Amino acid sequence: MGNTEGAENRSKDAEEEGGGFISPVKLIQPGAWGLEEPPYSSFFARLSQSAFRQNFHLGEKERAYVAEKGMDTIREHACEIIRKRLAPQLIPNDGRQTPMRNHPVFIAQHATATCCRECLQKWHGLPKGREMTEAEQSYAVGVIMEWIRRDYGSGA
Ligand SMILES: [Zn+2]
Repeated sequence: MGNTEGAENRSKDAEEEGGGFISPVKLIQPGAWGLEEPPYSSFFARLSQSAFRQNFHLGEKERAYVAEKGMDTIREHACEIIRKRLAPQLIPNDGRQTPMRNHPVFIAQHATATCCRECLQKWHGLPKGREMTEAEQSYAVGVIMEWIRRDYGSGA
């Protein structure tokens, strides 16, 4: 434990075991946190341990898109994408519904393991096989927007 040696040899699966964490989704209660203080920091700390997830960054094109549209519009897109591609109870192409490029939200989804219900279950403790609640959808949007804010802010 705490030994990072050989971390690069671990498989993607091993990195994504994600065992022994407090599910952020379990913390989703109206009024459980203020808008300024979502329970994202422990998730981002855990995320930083995954070399696979750390590989994702906004490209030049996506950065330009964020600059052009602004964060409010990007957030609207994120809500739409989550509602349509992630929230339904049944997703026939789950695991393949999120493209790898062309929209900052797609990149952010892969970077934050909000790309499919399988990853949401594994990383965020959100059970698949049922429709996501409004609170769970806004949680996912919050994680995505926080990642975009951080990655965009970290420079090209
Ligand atoms: Zn996934």
